[in-house]
Amino acid sequence: MSRAPYLTSRLQGFGTTVFAEMSALAVATGSVNLGQGFPDYPGPTEVLEVARAAIGTAADQYPPGPGIPELREAVAAHHQRFRGLEYDPDAEVLVTAGATEALSGALLALLDTGDEVVLFEPMYDCYAAGIAMAGGVARPVPLHPPDGGNGGTGGGDAGEGGRWTFDPDELRAAITPRTKILLLNTPHNPTGKVFTPHELALLAGHAIEHDLLVLTDEVYEHLVFTGARHTSIATLPGMRERTLVVGSAGKTFNVTGWKIGWICGPAPLVAAVRTAKQFLTYVNGGPFQPAIAAGLRLPESYFEAVAKDLEYRRDVLVRGLREGGLPVISPEATYFATVDVRSVQPDGDGLAFCRSLPARAGVVAVPTGVFYDPAHAHLGRHLVRFAFCKSDDVLGEAVQRLVGMGRAGGGRS
Ligand SMILES: *Cc1c(COP(=O)(O)O)cnc(C)c1O
Repeated sequence: MSRAPYLTSRLQGFGTTVFAEMSALAVATGSVNLGQGFPDYPGPTEVLEVARAAIGTAADQYPPGPGIPELREAVAAHHQRFRGLEYDPDAEVLVTAGATEALSGALLALLDTGDEVVLFEPMYDCYAAGIAMAGGVARPVPLHPPDGGNGGTGGGDAGEGGRWTFDPDELRAAITPRTKILLLNTPHNPTGKVFTPHELALLAGHAIEHDLLVLTDEVYEHLVFTGARHTSIATLPGMRERTLVVGSAGKTFNVTGWKIGWICGPAPLVAAVRTAKQFLTYVNGGPFQPAIAAGLRLPESYFEAVAKDLEYRRDVLVRGLREGGLPVISPEATYFATVDVRSVQPDGDGLAFCRSLPARAGVVAVPTGVFYDPAHAHLGRHLVRFAFCKSDDVLGEAVQRLVGMGRAGGGRS
């Protein structure tokens, strides 16, 4: 890769993202964009109306640095209601500019130069950059797709019923005396994996044995489908005191542009993150903070409905991909399904497949390879991520085009 001018050595390699290329391709070709993971339908009226009413009031000015008390109390009550976790709204809850600032604030606050972070890959794109900006070193451990990544012979059923897994030996090998943080994401983007209590117990055992801090990104906590259940590692014995839990309103309330997130944990850890956060954005989203406080207090039925609705969209896309001849790994949670392209793309290259898909089917997806450390990108080279958090019209059109591609022989069958 060529060196980007002006950019520090810390940020070399983070210059351009494939998301921009694919979104531009979608516009240029009139394709349905299933590349980017944001919903194209609005959030709950109860939430939107609070924000509308707050504009033009004192809520337009700087909120308190840690977030308005009402929102911090709602975040604490939400953790209590859904996870049985107690946090003091004053000392143990910090409102941030999205989960992104919670994560980068935590990494900047907690990492010294050369400190290592163990995390799973494929990984959400801000992790590696956040670690690099903090002067840390990422130690990725691969998640293995259900077919073992060795053939894609499952046809339309590849990975059906199977789960992404990790090798406990590979995890153990990634932990060194320099490891400071275990960075976890469950439910997981881009795989849609939900870590099981058994897997979390294994991770917790390592965290305790090696005295690691745990930073857990749970922004998809409510977008979990039948058969899976979200567990926060903070609820495991001995873990609350070493864990920072990151959440966000964006995915739960269909307001990804509002950038209201939070981070919860023991007071000294949250105080450290607050120190970094106050010099990043200081505060954000004044009128959105009371709206998300209202959202977090919505009845159980809202949270159940949002998961059910997305599960239906997952089923529509997964069925369409299969009918289009694309072997798909059906996710347990999140916005994303993964396709193994080896049976429909002779060189097995997910990036080449994504570049050709607009012409083949009029649909845009993103190659999963971009979610890996460049040194390990071969592990995800044959995988492609499709988002299904789209309205009926958009999803229906995408599915029709994908099925048409299968019939036209563009698919494997
Ligand atoms: C979308 C996403 C985020 C970013 O959340 P914001 O609140 O928009 O900053 C963080 N982590 C994961 C895994 C995501 O998919």
